[in-house]
Amino acid sequence: MTALLEMRDLLVILNGKPALDIKSLMVEKGETLAVIGPNGAGKSTLLKVLALLQKPSQGQLLLDGKPVRFSGNLLSQRRRLALVMQQPLLRGTTTFENVATGLRFRRVLGSEVRRRVEDWLGRLGISLLAARHAHTLSGGEAQRTSLARALVLQPDLLLLDEPFADLDPPTREDLMSEIRSILHETGTTAVFVTHDRDEALRLGDRLAVMMDGRVLQEGRPQEVLARPASQEVAAFVGTETVLPGVVRNEQQGLLDVEVAPEKHVAAVGRSTVGSQVLVCLRPEEVTLLEPHQEGHSSARNHFLGTVQEVSDLGLFLRVTLDCGFPIVAYATRISVSEMAIALGQPLVASFKATAVHLIPQ
Ligand code: ADP
Repeated sequence: MTALLEMRDLLVILNGKPALDIKSLMVEKGETLAVIGPNGAGKSTLLKVLALLQKPSQGQLLLDGKPVRFSGNLLSQRRRLALVMQQPLLRGTTTFENVATGLRFRRVLGSEVRRRVEDWLGRLGISLLAARHAHTLSGGEAQRTSLARALVLQPDLLLLDEPFADLDPPTREDLMSEIRSILHETGTTAVFVTHDRDEALRLGDRLAVMMDGRVLQEGRPQEVLARPASQEVAAFVGTETVLPGVVRNEQQGLLDVEVAPEKHVAAVGRSTVGSQVLVCLRPEEVTLLEPHQEGHSSARNHFLGTVQEVSDLGLFLRVTLDCGFPIVAYATRISVSEMAIALGQPLVASFKATAVHLIPQ
């Protein structure tokens, strides 16, 4: 694969402070790079640089291997990009004319404009809204219009700045699946910025985790989730159980990590006896069992504890067990009623040694 975009030692100083400090980051042709990070991480600043709207204080941005000259005329490069923002900012005219805006600027022939706009209105399911005044559209319809306005330009790079953040959950779900298919079908390269981990996982072929202007980790989404490189990344990507421990034994890649007095977690990994580590465990890797069911599981780790906290996450519940150390698991509503999960009840947390990820300290 060739890189459409590459950042090298890129620094943006805002108000005397680094808002962006990226040693190296690439976006390959045809991929969707999802960038996640908390508010203030530098995500919007990154998109502004990529949209050629913000000049870096230092370093280089390369487009197709050629350094962008921010001091020169950027029009021809800007025409290769399209930006979709959280708020669609539509013009006070029809949906059709909003989608046609960029093509009219580019002096595309009227018949061609009609063909392309109608095609994209159809693909985004808003053909029937073509004649509607854009300011009467719902949030979801307006965002569809904004996406059509960007995609009709056949951009080499589509920049998406939290485009689903203001939508209600069902609208957001539908639009996200459609965008995913569209990006893959058209082979459009995209950079998608969000603070929402689930959105990033659904859309991203690759994931970059940003904090304090820096990229802390990048890789395939499942890889970053399963193997966060630091405690900060672990916390942000939803690794709910993070326990300090010491490696007490190692045998052919199977480690014994003490996480509390006489509490040992079996983990598959590399480390040396005596090392300090953080034991990381994702809640979806933990199975909750009633104490008499313990023998039914083939997983190496079983810890008896009592239910300390139960919180409602909508589709499932988050259950914290006190096993002498805390373990967080997710439980479906069915399992909650079947097991009658309630505060103070004894339960066993069970998980495989391969589900445990260790961060060296
Ligand atoms: P995010 O999009 O991840 O929330 P931003 O890129 O907006 O983060 O911000 C990154 C950092 O840059 C923050 O510390 C923010 O306060 C600062 N910042 C953003 N825009 C400006 C600006 N126009 N002037 C000064 N500081 C800014």
